[in-house]
Amino acid sequence: MIGLIGGTGLGEALMGDSRGTEHVIDTPFGMPSSAIHVVEWNGIELALLARHGEGHTLNPSQVPYRANIYALKKLGVTHIIASGAVGSLRDQIKPRDLMLCHQVIDKTHRRIPTFYDVGLAAHVEFAQPYCPQLRALLEAAASKVNATVHTRGVYVCMEGPAFSTQAESTMHRAWGADVIGMTTMPEAKLAREAEMCYALIALATDYDCWRGHEPGTSKQALLNEIIGNLREATANAVALMRAGIDTFAENPPEPCACHTALDLAVWSDHEKLTEDVRRHYDPLLNRYVEAARAAQKAT
Ligand SMILES: [Zn+2]
Repeated sequence: MIGLIGGTGLGEALMGDSRGTEHVIDTPFGMPSSAIHVVEWNGIELALLARHGEGHTLNPSQVPYRANIYALKKLGVTHIIASGAVGSLRDQIKPRDLMLCHQVIDKTHRRIPTFYDVGLAAHVEFAQPYCPQLRALLEAAASKVNATVHTRGVYVCMEGPAFSTQAESTMHRAWGADVIGMTTMPEAKLAREAEMCYALIALATDYDCWRGHEPGTSKQALLNEIIGNLREATANAVALMRAGIDTFAENPPEPCACHTALDLAVWSDHEKLTEDVRRHYDPLLNRYVEAARAAQKAT
């Protein structure tokens, strides 16, 4: 099953009037941002989640990232394609363009970045924060979409909700970042901890403030332009997701290293993991514990 995480309106844009089956899932980490709608597309089940809640009522710091990823895992999601609005830090990344990010710089500081803070220590590999296999699949699908898709780029994730100062924006460019947004972290990290593939389609809505605006542009005109760009970029992202899902359906990907990410990550002795701890994390740890027990039996 593929999970699609996006801004408000993405579900409607993807599926029209079909709302599919609604799942309201309580989790040990609270309620997810919204009910999750499961629909079928080309023989593949899709689980749609509105990151900012119905009606966009959650700001990026308030999004329940842990509950969202946990709920998708519980439903049986193995791959996540997320989308998120960003500001461009480069001339060549134009408003309405899409980017398949390959790296991230995490500046968030008000969000819990791990599931595993009770009863065990787990340190997942995160050198490649976005799944290379899922990115390659979306890259192959990009040629079917009538939009500019940048196939790699560095995303700097800020806490927000206010945007950067001009000095910060200039600094982010000097760091080597290409786009700035507020939502991919800790979402990508939690997906890795939950052993799911995760890729991000960044939607450029405007240039970040390093570039300044045309003199004389009114604030209202600017806002209208950004909203228009977001609408267009969302339509482009939906087209890319559809093309990616079609590719996924035609050539289901091989099992990926993301799906066994805990094998080298859990430093705690699996025999010391109490039933309470296992139950608390169910289903996140189940595969790992069963594999560890089987390996022990074999030796
Ligand atoms: Zn993967």
